[in-house]
Amino acid sequence: MPQPRRLRSNLRFPIFNFQFSIGSSPPAAWAKLCVGLALGVVLLTAPAFAATAIVRLKDGKTVITGEVVKHTPDDVTIKTQAGEQVVKWDEMKPASAYSLKKQLLDRKDAEGALRLGAFCLEHGMRKEADELFRQAVKLDPSLAAKVSEAKKAAGIQEEEKPGEPEEKAKPDAKAAKSGKKGDAAEPATPPKDIKALLVAQRARAKDANDKVGTKLVTEETAHFIIHTDFRDRRALGQICERYYGELSRIFGLGRNEPLWDGKCVIFFFSDEEDFQKFAEKVDNFAGAQQASGYTMLQKDGREIHIAIPQPKAEDATTGIQAFFSTLIHEIAHAFLHCIREPFSPRPWINEGIAQYFSFLNDPQYPRWATHKRLLKQRLASGSLRPLNSLLAMDTMPAADTEGYAMSWSLVEFLIKTDARKFTTFIQQIKGRTQQEDALKNAFRTTPENLEAVWRQYVQNNY
Ligand SMILES: [Zn+2]
Repeated sequence: MPQPRRLRSNLRFPIFNFQFSIGSSPPAAWAKLCVGLALGVVLLTAPAFAATAIVRLKDGKTVITGEVVKHTPDDVTIKTQAGEQVVKWDEMKPASAYSLKKQLLDRKDAEGALRLGAFCLEHGMRKEADELFRQAVKLDPSLAAKVSEAKKAAGIQEEEKPGEPEEKAKPDAKAAKSGKKGDAAEPATPPKDIKALLVAQRARAKDANDKVGTKLVTEETAHFIIHTDFRDRRALGQICERYYGELSRIFGLGRNEPLWDGKCVIFFFSDEEDFQKFAEKVDNFAGAQQASGYTMLQKDGREIHIAIPQPKAEDATTGIQAFFSTLIHEIAHAFLHCIREPFSPRPWINEGIAQYFSFLNDPQYPRWATHKRLLKQRLASGSLRPLNSLLAMDTMPAADTEGYAMSWSLVEFLIKTDARKFTTFIQQIKGRTQQEDALKNAFRTTPENLEAVWRQYVQNNY
């Protein structure tokens, strides 16, 4: 039976209960990995991930899958296995066209969001249209008038009656004209397209191998598609599934509740250089040098992939611990993004939870002691930032050690206080309840009260 290359020693350990000896680890290796992790787990929502197209044509049968090489207002060029193919936007089912346009939309392109919103309106995708309009106006408030115009042009008055589009007006009107009312009710990702998506997700090993020169092989489990050059792929798959089970429990995932589209795709590289090349050539992500892994999320969508290298470490066991901490951290991000409505919650929740799972996975990891020390010191010197400013953060820079430490500790505290209430809290947050309300509903507390009891907890326990 084939043995894993350098992973062998760890695969015997039960997950979440690593009985792991640190006695033989040289301190230098710990320090290095701590820095690597502190700088490193990166979470991205990026147009870079938009390169894969899965489009269904209006005949309802033809599905074209491949990489987008070019797109214009009229058409998109897709590199399929059979060669490049130019597909006109108005040949596609509107829901398919919407999905792909959304992927290709630059997050900062206000006009683009407006145009796509108008397209959605025209095809009866009201919810999607409203969201895009909101996005457009948020980026450029002067577009509010144009949004009203677009709604008017689509026959929507203040009372928001759905109506037929009028002929004049919208930039995309010509390309988008479908003429088939039956398309209107389709969800953004029609269920049948998941099959095509899975085919594409499985094919990503080949794509990576072509671009990076790796020899990735695919292992598929119930919820994951793993592309890796590790020899013991099955063990990796089993570990991912066990993590999935743990996360489902804490997040209260229902039996038939949708999570990610297709499966969660994970790339594991035994060579860190391959990981770097992959980040650059496949994900167009230049920031991977400092990262011990990253997750690519489809913005407002449910497609996910994760890339993780096996860390370089003098001590193999230390490297393995870091590797699994990163793995659970990233899967937790993916889970949290996709559960209920697809979006990533505020960083204190997102990073707090991801770190909490790394912590469960390896309570001996030095980072937790560092976090505790830092919090206690700042509390004693009166320099710890107020909780409200942490709760208000929209982004958390990787270098914000205090922010990471507070996030981890708060989540740990809330889960220890009552894990079931924490599940309720997350469910509410992912149902778009404001965090103050979710705290009140789940824990019967306010941020002020929470701050007081949490500070006491830090004082007494760290
Ligand atoms: Zn993270």
